[in-house]
Amino acid sequence: MKPANEDRARRWARLSETRDWDLVVVGGGATGLGVALDAAARGFSVALVESHDFAQGTSSRATKLVHGGVRYLAQGNVNLVREALHERAAMLSNAPHVAQPLPFVMPGYHWWERGFYGTGLKLYDALAGARGLGATEWLGSGQVRTLLPGVQPRGLWGGVKYWDGQFDDARYAVLLARTAAARGAVVLNHCAAVALQRRDGRVHGVVVRDAETGAEATLSARCVVNAAGVWVDTLRELDREAGAAPRKPLVAPSQGVHLVVDRRFLPGTHALLVPKTADGRVLFAVPWLGKLILGTTDTPREDLAREPQPFPAEVDFILRESARYLQQAPRREDVRSVWVGLRPLVRHEGEAGDTKALSREHTVLVSPSGLVTVTGGKWTTYRAMAEDVLDRCMAQGLLPRRPAGATARLQLVGAAPGRSLTAPPGEHLYGSEAAALRGLPGAEHWLWRDGDGGLSEAMVRFAARHEAARTVEDVLARRSRLLFLDAAEAGRLAGVVATILGDELERELDPAPFEALAARYTRLP
Ligand SMILES: Cc1cc2nc3c(=O)[nH]c(=O)nc-3n(C[C@H](O)[C@H](O)[C@H](O)COP(=O)(O)OP(=O)(O)OC[C@H]3O[C@@H](n4cnc5c(N)ncnc54)[C@H](O)[C@@H]3O)c2cc1C
Repeated sequence: MKPANEDRARRWARLSETRDWDLVVVGGGATGLGVALDAAARGFSVALVESHDFAQGTSSRATKLVHGGVRYLAQGNVNLVREALHERAAMLSNAPHVAQPLPFVMPGYHWWERGFYGTGLKLYDALAGARGLGATEWLGSGQVRTLLPGVQPRGLWGGVKYWDGQFDDARYAVLLARTAAARGAVVLNHCAAVALQRRDGRVHGVVVRDAETGAEATLSARCVVNAAGVWVDTLRELDREAGAAPRKPLVAPSQGVHLVVDRRFLPGTHALLVPKTADGRVLFAVPWLGKLILGTTDTPREDLAREPQPFPAEVDFILRESARYLQQAPRREDVRSVWVGLRPLVRHEGEAGDTKALSREHTVLVSPSGLVTVTGGKWTTYRAMAEDVLDRCMAQGLLPRRPAGATARLQLVGAAPGRSLTAPPGEHLYGSEAAALRGLPGAEHWLWRDGDGGLSEAMVRFAARHEAARTVEDVLARRSRLLFLDAAEAGRLAGVVATILGDELERELDPAPFEALAARYTRLP
C-alpha cells in the first residue's frame, strides 16, 4: 500500500478500534480543529471527523485577515477587539510561514476622515499593547499614492496606515489538523458524523461514516463537541429527544462574496480598507498570493448550501465600490475567481434579519444531554474559542480539569519565518518542510507557474502523502489555492492533478466534478 492510503487506513483503524475517547469533535474547520489541538495538547484522547475536507466549509472562504476587527471598535465592542488582537499575535507567531503581518491603508476622501479614523486606530494600537504589529501613521495624499499605487487620486485628502495580519486560511487549517495528529489526536476528513449515541438521556458517542469505504464506526466519548459551523443545527436536531419540539435554530447564516482580480489593479504590498462604503459596509482590497482579493458582502441567507452562489447585487456592489477607490476599475471579465462563504452568526432571541447586527462573538451551549455546541466567532479567535469550549466541558464535569494555555505558544508543523503572503504561492508556504517537498518526485515539474512559484507535481504528491488530500478538489482548492486565485487555470489542471494524485492514492480519479466546480467559480451571475 502507498503511504497516503496506509496513513488513512491507520487513522481509520485507530478511530474505530479505540474504546473510549475523552473527546470527539464533529467538524474540521477552524473551530473544531482548534478544539482538537487544544485538547490533544492538554493530553486528552481526541478524535475529530470532518464530513468533507478540512476547511471545506467557511474556513477556506475568509477574507484571509488575522485581525482585531477595526469595525467592531467603531461599534464599541472593545472586549471583542482586545481578545482578537491578543489572538492575532498568537496566530502569527505560531505559524509564520502561513500567517504574517500586513500593512493596511485607509484612503480619506473627506477632510475629517484622516483624523477620525486615525484616532480610532490609535486606540486599536493601544488595545494591542505590546502585541502591536506597528504604529498607526497619518499619511499625506502623496504617501497614500506611493503605498497604494492604483488608488483613485481624485479628491484624495490623505489617509491612515495601520497594521493587521493575513494568512492562508485553508493551509492554516490543515496545519492545525497535522499538529493535532502529531500530539496524538486522530483526525479524519471525508468522514461524517451521521448519528449521536444516547443512553439515559445523555450523549455518549457518535456514529461516523467513512465517505470512501462506506464503513461505519461508533465512537464512545465522555464529551462530544459539535463544531459544525453553519451546520451545527443539523447535529443539534439529532440530539433532540424523540417527540420533543424542534429547537430554534442557533445560527443565522450570512453570505460573504469575494472577487479575485490581477494585482495590476492595486500593485504594491499594502492592503486597502474602505471603512464605510455607500451602504455603510467595509470594503477590502487585499493582495494575496500574487492576486488581489476584493470583498466582501454580508447578506442573510436561509439555506445552507455547500457551494453557495453569489447574488447579482453582491457582485455589482463589490465592482461598483472598487471602481470608486481604484483608478482602473475592475470589470466583470477581469474576475479570475468568485467564491462565497457562510458566516455562522449567532441568533439571539428577538433579533431582526439584519446580519450586521447579529453577534460576531462565539457561543458555547451545553444541551441537557451534554452535547457541547460551539459556533460563531471568527478565524482569528479560534484558539480562544477552543479554550472556552474545554473550560465549559470541564465546568460541566465532562472532562477532568487540566490547565489552559497549552496552545498559546505551540508552533504548528513546519513553522519557520516565511516570505510575504502577497507573493505568488510557492515553496515558502511549506516553511521548514520545504526541503522534504523538494525531495519528492516532480519538484521541478511545474504544472502551473507564477513568478518563481506556482504548483509543482511534488506539491500534489506532498498533499497526498502528508496533508491528507483525497480528491482533486482537496489539492486545487485547499492545499494549493489555485481555485481561489484563478479558477479557469485550476479547471485546466484537473486532469493532470487527477493523474498524479491517482498514482499516490492507487486509484483512478475522475477530474470532471472538479472541472464543473471550477467553472462555477469563474461564472458571475
Ligand atoms: C465571507 C467571510 C469572510 C471572513 N473573513 C474572515 C477573516 O478575514 N478573518 C477572520 O478571522 N474570520 C473571517 N471570517 C470568519 C471565519 O471564516 C469563520 O468564523 C470560521 O471559518 C468558522 O469556522 P468553523 O469551523 O466554525 O466553521 P466551518 O469552517 O464551516 O467548519 C465546520 C465544518 O463542519 C463540517 N461538518 C458539518 N456537518 C458535519 C458532520 N455531520 N460530520 C462531520 N463534519 C461536519 C463541515 O463540513 C465544515 O467543514 C469570515 C467569514 C466569512 C463568511
